Amino acid sequence: GKRAFIAGVADDNGYGWAIAKSLAAAGAEILVGTWVPALNIFESSLRRGKFDESRKLQDGSLMEIAKVYPLDAVYDNPEDVPEDVKANKRYAGATNWTVQEVAESVKKDFGTIDILVHSLANGPEVSKPLSETSRKGYLAALSASSYSYISLLKHFLPIINPDGSAISLTYIASERIIPGYGGGMSSAKAALESDTRVLAFEAGRKKRIRVNTISAGPLGSRAAKAIGF
Ligand code: NAD
Repeated sequence: GKRAFIAGVADDNGYGWAIAKSLAAAGAEILVGTWVPALNIFESSLRRGKFDESRKLQDGSLMEIAKVYPLDAVYDNPEDVPEDVKANKRYAGATNWTVQEVAESVKKDFGTIDILVHSLANGPEVSKPLSETSRKGYLAALSASSYSYISLLKHFLPIINPDGSAISLTYIASERIIPGYGGGMSSAKAALESDTRVLAFEAGRKKRIRVNTISAGPLGSRAAKAIGF
């Protein structure tokens, strides 16, 4: 069977969860990366059976998650983590959650993966029109939503089996004007799509890994509701 690592699962409402279920139904072993501040509630909800109904697969069995890894995809390694984040009590309880450390942990625990899924985005100023977005907000959107795919692929590439694949989720606001999708999120998706072509070329040559992004339709996830979609 195949093994998948899905970055960006913190509840049962988003694309990451749905993708995990599809992969589980197809027989894949499921590992997930959960944003550090959301880790405790996700793990305790899992443990308490809050997701049991939505863990149900078509054959009646429940999706198993082999391991949940804390992850913050805006930091590549421990040297990148600012002091205030290290000291933050939402981060203090977890360890090894930078991208490089998560890839190392997955390697140690499981050796290799076949499928890497990037299902995460964040734009702190998403509710501001692009023309009113600060430099800081714009760069934060690109860091969390675009560079995070480059970083994940860079650090996981050595442990993705040949003929494996990577996928992320983009949005039509990269090409057409979608009022309300601000804060540089439209720019972040445009970068994600362009980067996907270049990364596909590079990872294809290097290791026969396919790199794609899917432009998803609207879904009432936590992220979408937060911006009033
Ligand atoms: P979601 O809230 O289920 O998923 C986003 C996840 O990203 C959350 O679990 C959040 O905790 C995580 N996250 C945020 N910052 C992070 C960080 N720094 N490190 C690690 N994780 C982080 O919402 P979703 O809508 O399912 O989003 C998944 C993907 O689908 C995103 O790329 C989003 O842009 C894309 N998408 C969503 C829609 C939609 O309508 N919901 C449409 C097209 C594309």
